[in-house]
Amino acid sequence: MKILIIEDEKAIAEVERAYVEKEGYSADIAGNSNIGIEKFEEFDYDLVILDLMLPGMSGLEVCRFIRSKKNTPIIMVTAKSREDDIIAGLDAGADDYVIKPFSPKVLMARVRANLRKTGAEFSEGSEVIKIGTHLVIKPQNYAVYKDNIEISMTKNEFLILSCMANRPEKTWSRDELITYALGDDYDGFERSVDSYIKNIRKKLNDPEHDFIKTVYGFGYKLTDGEK
Ligand code: CA
Repeated sequence: MKILIIEDEKAIAEVERAYVEKEGYSADIAGNSNIGIEKFEEFDYDLVILDLMLPGMSGLEVCRFIRSKKNTPIIMVTAKSREDDIIAGLDAGADDYVIKPFSPKVLMARVRANLRKTGAEFSEGSEVIKIGTHLVIKPQNYAVYKDNIEISMTKNEFLILSCMANRPEKTWSRDELITYALGDDYDGFERSVDSYIKNIRKKLNDPEHDFIKTVYGFGYKLTDGEK
């Protein structure tokens, strides 16, 4: 397992590296956004720890860039604790966030949880789930297809969509989606579910189809997409 640390404060980056290595993973440090992007493109990383406040290109922009290329889990590290900044990070495609000053042990627990979700936890069940005539989910491959074209999803987007697909008649509250899709490791705000849903809609919907219905005052329901 190889982790990319994008962090401009050397002391913090070194602490992160020391803990990552203690977990038995290897780590590369990038001291600014440009080096971070270069390394990300050159090597294959299993996870990225990304500082939000970077000189030059911001962490949010780096996050969007990474997300446009791959679904590598991204943990955003931010001194900004305002809910809106965290939502902006999740909207940009981050999977998780840790607020500075953070406990390295908590950061490592998040790293483990995010690595775990990309691997073994998906492997149960092998059948193909069909939603209407347009969407197909293959849980074994963590893959989502719309009209036979694979749609790239992040880990949390995939977990939410496949959870909803398992019980297509059900309307899910945000709280239920956190519990049943994202699991006990997840301690984000309920509003972060809205960010994931927004991203899923962006990827799946088109002018003729709308696959997730908002049930006002309650939550969300997966549909066959026909309006
Ligand atoms: Ca910084």
